[in-house]
Amino acid sequence: MAVASALGAESEQTNDALEGLVHQAPALRAALLHWWEANGRLRVPWKLRPNGSRPAPGEPLCAFQTWVAEVMLQQTRLEVVLPYWQRWMETFPTALALARADTQQVLLCWQGLGYYARARRLQQGARLLVQAPGATHAAPHEPIAWPRELEGWLALPGIGRSTAGGILSSAFDLPYPILDGNVKRVLARLLACPTPPARSLARFWELSGKLLDRARPRDFNQALMDLGALVCTPRSPRCGACPWQSHCAAYAAGVPAAYPVKDAPRPLPFQVIGVGVVLDGAGRVLIDQRLNEGLLGGLWEFPGGKQEPGEAIEATIERELVEELAIQVEVGEELIRLDHAYSHKRLRFVVHLCRWISGEPQPLTCQQVRWVEPAELAHFPFPAANARIIAALLARLGAADAA
Ligand code: SF4
Repeated sequence: MAVASALGAESEQTNDALEGLVHQAPALRAALLHWWEANGRLRVPWKLRPNGSRPAPGEPLCAFQTWVAEVMLQQTRLEVVLPYWQRWMETFPTALALARADTQQVLLCWQGLGYYARARRLQQGARLLVQAPGATHAAPHEPIAWPRELEGWLALPGIGRSTAGGILSSAFDLPYPILDGNVKRVLARLLACPTPPARSLARFWELSGKLLDRARPRDFNQALMDLGALVCTPRSPRCGACPWQSHCAAYAAGVPAAYPVKDAPRPLPFQVIGVGVVLDGAGRVLIDQRLNEGLLGGLWEFPGGKQEPGEAIEATIERELVEELAIQVEVGEELIRLDHAYSHKRLRFVVHLCRWISGEPQPLTCQQVRWVEPAELAHFPFPAANARIIAALLARLGAADAA
């Protein structure tokens, strides 16, 4: 009972803070946009006209370019996204080009950005859009009837409400709010919200919507993201440079970095993976392509699998290669070991060189298996952890050649 009434009091307090901010919305908008004009990231390429100038209010920009950018930004910072986005636009300049592309090429273009499902879903979305009624394929940047409402974007794979709002405000200057990680952090601090944002999403959406400058939604949403990325940063917010300092409850409380409040982190499961880099007598290396489902679906990798309790890593590799590919190998020396953290688990890859002994490789648990020359590995999309395995292999083979 005491807990329930304490939670009720917290909720009321947050509602009061929210109402207060809504009353201050005109001042908040003006201060943010004024700050942004002087300090914001004004040269984001997909927010500019093709000639590099800023668009007029309400002027539409290329929806395809914006869509790709917003999907890349879902898990990745702007500075990292920019070179990938440039390369993507050179490779797939239109939705039509993306829809017609080979999926392997799409994954290769995404390689290094992680969360590869995003690339596959972008292509699925492009295929849906170019087949939809109203698609004309006539103009290079407007081959299809781009949705101008939330529902049209939400119907595409991999698009949530914040990404859809980001696309609609950015491409068409339409008044849709956003609520990505940066924005949640800024709003949680403005409110000094006593609970994690995930438990108050409706309130956060309401606040993002009520603060939005409906006359300049493209600029306002970009300014809000820039404030989160440049000033109201996760660990050390630069409150002295913040246009919202005088409105901010976390600043007033003297503990801005204490927000957003987080639930105690759960320990991530840890797993050791035995990996075999199998070479045949001709010096070719064996790789396999994962099934299309899952986090790394469709990517190539070196075969291997989870170490069982009490199992030596060499035995793990031998067993996995029989179970996955029906081959026998002789497990040789360790090539490299590396740790990799995903959002939901931590993995240690222990990678051994192996000599193929017998058995024609069969794709028992994957899409396909191939023997390739080591120099050809760069032509296949691999998960990030495998890039270090490839580098170690090429270095080892180079050293062996030189000896
Ligand atoms: Fe973030 Fe500090 Fe600005 Fe508050 S005053 S919004 S904590 S940077």
